[in-house]
Amino acid sequence: MSVLTTPGIKVPGDYIESVMISVKAKNPAEPEFHQAVAEVLDSLRLVLAKHPEYQSARLLERIVEPERVLMFRVPWFDDQGGIQVNRGFRIEMNSAIGPYKGGLRFHPSVNLGILKFLAFEQVFKNSLTTLPMGGGKGGSDFDPKGKSDNEVMRFCQSFMTELCRHIGPDTDVPAGDIGVGGREIGFLFGQYKRLRNEFTGVLTGKGLGWGGSLIRPEATGYGCVYFANEMLKTRKDKLEGKICLVSGSGNVSQYTIEKLLDFGAKPVTVSDSNGVIYDPDGIDREKLAWVMDLKNVKRGRIRDYADKYKKAIFMPTDIKLDHNPLWNVKADCAFPSATQNEITAKDAANLLKNGIKLVAEGANMPSTLEATKMFLDAKILYGPAKAANAGGVATSGLEMSQNSQRLSWTREEVDNRLHKIMIAIHQTCFETAEKYGTPGNLVNGANIGGFLKVANAMLDQGLV
Ligand code: NDP
Repeated sequence: MSVLTTPGIKVPGDYIESVMISVKAKNPAEPEFHQAVAEVLDSLRLVLAKHPEYQSARLLERIVEPERVLMFRVPWFDDQGGIQVNRGFRIEMNSAIGPYKGGLRFHPSVNLGILKFLAFEQVFKNSLTTLPMGGGKGGSDFDPKGKSDNEVMRFCQSFMTELCRHIGPDTDVPAGDIGVGGREIGFLFGQYKRLRNEFTGVLTGKGLGWGGSLIRPEATGYGCVYFANEMLKTRKDKLEGKICLVSGSGNVSQYTIEKLLDFGAKPVTVSDSNGVIYDPDGIDREKLAWVMDLKNVKRGRIRDYADKYKKAIFMPTDIKLDHNPLWNVKADCAFPSATQNEITAKDAANLLKNGIKLVAEGANMPSTLEATKMFLDAKILYGPAKAANAGGVATSGLEMSQNSQRLSWTREEVDNRLHKIMIAIHQTCFETAEKYGTPGNLVNGANIGGFLKVANAMLDQGLV
């Protein structure tokens, strides 16, 4: 039995266990994929107890199997004229409720298992948004850090030369993720258009002058804070005055901090892979603008923050440490916004020891299964990634709608829609958790809420 088993619930354990055993056997050496599947299957025990039809249709075996996995060579020339070769991927996981939709990640750690976990999570997340989007994910082990703009462009062009034959506005619509921002989306879109001779909404996160949506860059961070606000409301609490920990310093972190400031909260940390900044005075709008310039324009390292703002402390990454010092800063709320498994059991223990009241996940699967269980057992407000960070893909869905209608909505209109979607996602998770007998457990709420719509669509569409 997995660590997240809900006590006291009678479940068809054999079926769930057999699916999990088969996932591990068929997908060896993919621990992140196993982790993501284990968490969802554990919640689905509650559903299968009430709905045997999913078991008869062998829905679980079908939903854990990607519809299609693409893996391809990406050769490109570096600035010295040397030949470089990377590996490209696209996982087309599930198209039961719409075209495949999910980001591209460029990071040296990218491998098949990591992208399968992300694609699997994306299926349930996209379903929760209420928009018609299936789930996918892709990327490459290419590392944009330290590369010139020309190198990034040549890589993106080579990557898209292969990917373009598999995607399209009604088939598969990629977006950004770690290492893929406005610059990369621009290069990818340019190459797609050139090869296909089509100007369509094949990617989201586009520039505003060529089909992008206002608020898309802000959406994941803003959405996560809207979700946190909804969680706090259920305990008659609010963000104003709360000390907040934010990890990472990329897209999600930056706009999480911006929205926290709008709500009157006090963010005190940021980080990157080289270390953590703790600023006891808080990161205000002027400091945030400086971080954005450092990261988005100069493409520098976060340690420079402590040279600029003298009261801030920089703690370099130390692989010998058994915990991340960022999660040991005393605070009310935590917004992990960097990467998967950045909160271990030890980090969760530190957060709880220091009295954390809320964890809202901007990053995908930032908490290990053990950390998740500790948050649930402690009954703090815990917003799992597939619900809390769904604002990004939801706004990508809004970008797709605008592209189809050849219209551009105002900033207020998109932000209002995003806010409403986040309120609705929270409500779905909250009510589903109650309905299935685990009130307050938004992990179950999100997994079950996301699953039902996809599963029913799969049943309706027959054995495909
Ligand atoms: P960015 O590339 O903009 O920023 C990522 C940040 O996380 C950087 O500060 C980076 O530091 C840090 N980071 C990445 N990998 C590691 C690592 N292995 N160890 C320590 N720090 C790391 O990415 P995003 O902000 O877009 O994405 C952050 C998270 O949010 C990811 O989990 C992503 O999947 C998730 N997400 C993003 C969405 C989006 O719309 N962008 C939507 C939903 C989820 P460094 O620069 O040193 O690598």
